[in-house]
Amino acid sequence: MSYTSTLRIQLDKPLLRDTDRGDSCQTENGTGSPYYKERLSAKEGEDEKSIGESKQPGALHVQTVRKEGRCAAGTQTERRKVTSVEMFSSRAVTTSDRFLTLILELSPQNGSGLYVRRVLRPDTTLTVLSTARENKTPMREESTHVGKTNPMPLSATTVPKESSSTQPSAPPSRFESPSTSITHGPVSPKRKPNKTGDSLKIVDGVDQIKARVGDKVELHCGIQGTTPIAATWLRNKKQVTEGPRISVHTSDMESRLVIDQVCEDDSGCYTLYVQDRTGNVQHHTSLTVVEHPSPPSGKPLVSATQPSSLTLSWSGPCYDGGSAVVSYWIEMKCTKKEEDGWKLLTDSCVNTSYRVEEGLQPGGQYQFRVRAANAHGVSEPGEESDIVAMLCAGDEETEGEGSNGYTNVSVNTTEHFNDFYIQLEKLGMGKFGQVYKLKERSTGKICAGKFFKARTQKEIQGARVEVELMNKLHHPQLVRCLSAFQEPGRVVMVLEYIAGGELFERIVADDFEHTEVMCVEYICQILNGVAYMHHQSIVHLDLKPENIICLNTVSNQVKIIDFGLARELDPHVPMKVLQGTAEFVAPEVIAFEPVGFTTDMWSLGVICYILLSGDSPFQGNNDMETMQNITSACWDFDDETNALLSETAKDFVKRLLQKNMRSRLTAVQALDHPWVQHKCVSKTKTLSKERIKKFLARQKWQKTGKAVLALNRMALLSAKSDNNTTSTHTDGSHDCQQVSMHLQEQLQAAPVFSTLLKDQVEVVGSTARFQCHIEGFPDPEVLWFHAGSPVQECRRLQIEYEDTGSCALIISDVLLTDSGVYTCRASNTQGEIESSAKLTVHSLLAERRAKESTQ
Ligand code: ATP
Ligand code: MG
Repeated sequence: MSYTSTLRIQLDKPLLRDTDRGDSCQTENGTGSPYYKERLSAKEGEDEKSIGESKQPGALHVQTVRKEGRCAAGTQTERRKVTSVEMFSSRAVTTSDRFLTLILELSPQNGSGLYVRRVLRPDTTLTVLSTARENKTPMREESTHVGKTNPMPLSATTVPKESSSTQPSAPPSRFESPSTSITHGPVSPKRKPNKTGDSLKIVDGVDQIKARVGDKVELHCGIQGTTPIAATWLRNKKQVTEGPRISVHTSDMESRLVIDQVCEDDSGCYTLYVQDRTGNVQHHTSLTVVEHPSPPSGKPLVSATQPSSLTLSWSGPCYDGGSAVVSYWIEMKCTKKEEDGWKLLTDSCVNTSYRVEEGLQPGGQYQFRVRAANAHGVSEPGEESDIVAMLCAGDEETEGEGSNGYTNVSVNTTEHFNDFYIQLEKLGMGKFGQVYKLKERSTGKICAGKFFKARTQKEIQGARVEVELMNKLHHPQLVRCLSAFQEPGRVVMVLEYIAGGELFERIVADDFEHTEVMCVEYICQILNGVAYMHHQSIVHLDLKPENIICLNTVSNQVKIIDFGLARELDPHVPMKVLQGTAEFVAPEVIAFEPVGFTTDMWSLGVICYILLSGDSPFQGNNDMETMQNITSACWDFDDETNALLSETAKDFVKRLLQKNMRSRLTAVQALDHPWVQHKCVSKTKTLSKERIKKFLARQKWQKTGKAVLALNRMALLSAKSDNNTTSTHTDGSHDCQQVSMHLQEQLQAAPVFSTLLKDQVEVVGSTARFQCHIEGFPDPEVLWFHAGSPVQECRRLQIEYEDTGSCALIISDVLLTDSGVYTCRASNTQGEIESSAKLTVHSLLAERRAKESTQ
């Protein structure tokens, strides 16, 4: 890459012409030295050019010296006199009587630079260069180093090529001698003006596209901008790579991303990023690839078997097909009569459990399977249940290994836990002890172990009660207990390992779309688990977000854990408790009044409120305040959330957060609520995750037993969380910067003339116009030359350069001396190009004579 620098020197006396001969000029060392000397550093090992005046007055020479050579004198290899424009390199030097203009090409290599030195001038009477000997001053030197990063800083001696045409002329050198005035004025390259008018725009972009698996999808955006235009598509912030299925078509007017045979993995946020020379814009389109759900995962489980009825429960699908599951289809087969095949029991079950009360014969054998349905279709059937042998009339469900695959756990007091399990990392900590990941020695299966401190009878009893209760809770939405050990000082309860982490942590994850539909999906599962629990006469009494965990990181399935405070309710014996987590307990708990099944429903109302709004409805500055808020049972959604939520969602929460526990919905009623039944659910509006993030941040502090401290630090935490948001944002803009840089690189192009200069013939006094059209990025700068000399704009010579790339040199009142070759040189970082044309000027007289001679 090279840079052009212009050095313009004004002399107080005209330069000597070729014909002028005078005495040799003297130098301070008496050997004869250049009058003006330029030293251009070159790359290591390359030759270095020096331009200066030779010993002969009025002449300049070009010397080639080795880089180390400081002084040009005495090492000259080439010598020429500056007597006319042509004498030097056509683009390097021009001179008139009083002005010497050097156009210098510089290379910004390390150590390169332009050094200008003024040296003594010997007094000779006849030469231009002579001055009075008494003016002799010691040699002084000034250097302007041209660095790598700022290749051409402005200085008294150099004018960067980048300087705009409005750049004021450099001031005269401070080393100017009294007898010679030297000014360093630039011949500034001309630049395009800043673009005016319409800026870059993306038009007709679609915000959301839904497609079915296998469809051909076209994401299209119109573009309005200034050519050249570069565009790129990103999916979830990563550049889309073209392949056999994916192609990108970009022109100056539009960009299209075409995806053939779209599949589930193509879902995401697509960003079209467009760059032109005026700036960049982006447009986001969200692509949802929908299909029917995958089948419910796992086998359906059977419980509460009676001679002619049973309860079937199952898990939701691992993938809902990009659209919420709206119903389950349940099919049954009588295995004694294979020929009957699968019979549809219902196609409209909205829960993950179903009481089968028809079509079952006592003593009969049946199998069940379930399909999941969403708006786009019905899944394949899930796994078939184990064969269920119906009881004969009068029989009761047997104890022990149930027909549903669950085991009745009795606490093992004879064997050692360590003989069966290896203890791995800690998963969590709670009121009763610690939870660790376990590996079963015989199978390698991963489990979770809840280690209870059990030094007193009361502690042992507490742990045993939890195991006992879990034996009654065999439902897909409730954590499964696998075994239990009692050892001196501890009781270990082995549970199925639930790998997906807390529900709320999942919701705030980047790839999670937090909408009402998703809330319904979770609340519905929790309700199913709670309904089953209540059906078993068990009340949880500690329902809160951290006790709801996700099965894994890909499915939307959740399970309820932590039955440490759960109790079996006897409808005839009122039970009062004083336990729970302040934010989630119901008013009757605070009032120490009897609790009921709907005590859990209040907690569920609080969970649902937080899920929808991110706010905790009763949270005060301390537990006391929180409990006062609960007792008053005054709550509402803030305006922002109010506007965002569907009326049915608000109604659902309202029916749970009723102070009077009898006014609250039961779990079964809640499952029938229109919101849970997916009626009138807001499907599109995205709910706030930021507030849930803050809720989680606060919860973490409370978990570590620093609740009070945490509350005092809330402001700090919130600020921190805000900062995180900003930093994400900054990350985003960093991404944008990178994309922009990448696109700008794509736009880079050396200048080209799309229209070349044409020869002109004019008569004296008229106006000549050389016109061309230049393209390239970054915007090329132009210099015009007349017979090799840079053209300076003045009254008669005007350079027009428009943002469209159209460039013109207009010469008004043309003179005969304006004749000659005109060159337009366009350059940018990518290269340089020239176009030349000839101007022929005729005098009127000559014209008349020519006319006369032809007549
Ligand atoms: P709390 O203080 O919430 O009442 P606790 O002593 O009753 O606590 P749990 O809530 O059962 O204990 O478990 C504590 C934590 O351990 C949970 O919040 C969860 O993070 C983790 N955990 C518990 N059970 C499991 C499991 N089966 N699989 C994975 N992690 C689990
Ligand atoms: Mg817990």
